[in-house]
Amino acid sequence: MNIILLGPPGVGKGTEANLIAVRLSIDHISTGDMLRQEVRENTDLGKDARAFMNRGKLVPDEVIMAMVQKRLVPNFSHGFILDGVPRTLNQAEVLGEILTELNAHLDFVIELEAGEDVLIERLSGRRVCKKCHALYHTINMKPIRDGACDRCGGELYQRDDDKVATIKRRLTIYQQETHGLKEFYKKKGIFLTINAEGNAEETFRKIHDCLALKK
Ligand code: AMP
Repeated sequence: MNIILLGPPGVGKGTEANLIAVRLSIDHISTGDMLRQEVRENTDLGKDARAFMNRGKLVPDEVIMAMVQKRLVPNFSHGFILDGVPRTLNQAEVLGEILTELNAHLDFVIELEAGEDVLIERLSGRRVCKKCHALYHTINMKPIRDGACDRCGGELYQRDDDKVATIKRRLTIYQQETHGLKEFYKKKGIFLTINAEGNAEETFRKIHDCLALKK
């Protein structure tokens, strides 16, 4: 099965994409994760991307789609879930061209949605371990020892793009950039919207039931 998962920052795309990928045995392709790895490894791509990411701006389409193509082409036959891409109409069109070349097609485009207050609370409370990158939350998933990772003892920090001002900018950009994208997939008749204000397992059940109904 080939799926695109859309949704504003903080809606839980990464968590849900992971659950779907594991349970359907398909590949999870997250452009945010790929970019963060490039930044950590201080590659040329990472150095260029960091400035956009820290300001909550989108990395240029050419960079993103070249990265996606490199990752997708060797693995597409197992099925995939794209998380965080496409983000613009142009990326959707390029993705369409890549899939046509591969003789593959999209089964579903799922948008997860939640109210802005829920999204801001989720993102601004997120903390990440500097050493092993494990995720915590100041309200929902506190570490045992304040500021330290339960797994490796590493120091917990807040991502620059999880600060409230940047979050608001990211939410506005999401609405602006994805509006055309949603219309594009609605016209193709493969677009679904799912409320993701509940916990991860509840949202996964909703997605699962929806996919089962549509099959
Ligand atoms: P995410 O973890 O998906 O929220 O992505 C974190 C940041 O990476 C975003 O705020 C963008 O700066 C960048 N990014 C990730 N995916 C894309 C994409 N498809 N197009 C442009 N920029 C992206």
